[in-house]
Amino acid sequence: MADIIPFRKPTASEKASGKTLCKRGFHKWVIVKDKRFDSQQGRLVTSYCCERCGKLKTTAH
Ligand SMILES: [Zn+2]
Repeated sequence: MADIIPFRKPTASEKASGKTLCKRGFHKWVIVKDKRFDSQQGRLVTSYCCERCGKLKTTAH
């Protein structure tokens, strides 16, 4: 009788690995295309959003 190997479900640690990276400061930044002008500072900025945790950052040029 052959052993039935069930589909391997991702472990909790694997699911959390992305968030763990975020906690360590390794975010997965993607450029947010709108909001390219910071009216408060009066200069162009590029906005980034982390694909995993949604954190925002902006980089001034
Ligand atoms: Zn993140």
